[in-house]
Amino acid sequence: MTAIAPPPPQADWALFLDVDGTLIDIAPTPSAIRRPPELPALLEGLSRRHGGAVALISGRSVDNLRQLMAPARLPAAGLHGLERLDAGGRLHRPRPLPGLDTLRRDLVAFAARRPGVVVEDKGLSLALHYRLAPACEEECRALAVALAATTPGFQLVPGKMVFELRPAGADKGTAIAAFLAEAPFRGRIPVFAGDDLTDESGFAAVAARGGFGVRIGLPQPSAAAYALASPAACRAWLASGSG
Ligand SMILES: [Mg+2]
Repeated sequence: MTAIAPPPPQADWALFLDVDGTLIDIAPTPSAIRRPPELPALLEGLSRRHGGAVALISGRSVDNLRQLMAPARLPAAGLHGLERLDAGGRLHRPRPLPGLDTLRRDLVAFAARRPGVVVEDKGLSLALHYRLAPACEEECRALAVALAATTPGFQLVPGKMVFELRPAGADKGTAIAAFLAEAPFRGRIPVFAGDDLTDESGFAAVAARGGFGVRIGLPQPSAAAYALASPAACRAWLASGSG
């Protein structure tokens, strides 16, 4: 556990940034997020300063990230590393697994009987949100555990007030490693900022490659070496190196 603030971003770093809870405050539902108006310009300025080596690493889809951050256009990994828009503009995206339609049907039927429980369809994966119905947490967990155990190729990934069912094999760490094998990320000191359990694989990936993590939010056990209190503090930290 740590609460040490990171040094200002250096131009020779490769920056990997989670979005919800890291750059932007978490909202009651994913679509209710309020993007700070200055964020696209902040990201574009960062990208210039870091030679293009700035990427978003999110649980959102790449398409959703593009809309959210427009007009800024950055390389991005979506769906926790399942899909990746590389620095050359090529999209790496696997085919949906065969069990996806059945999973969607089961989750939607479950949520329809529980006000406040929301199913987010991410294309390749499905997320069951209970932020608006916290009393349903154990029911949601039981369903997600059961579906993950009976649907070939899927794994359960818990997050903040959400259970996500997604194809196994990729995570934020594998996405960061893929970026670091390519220009303009290759050879730079990797730094990853994130806020959630699903970001720990990213923290481990950058630490294993000579870099470090920055955990956003309340201090808690983490593989990140540094911490910042909030998305606003994270944006101020990013801006502190771009002047
Ligand atoms: Mg997050």
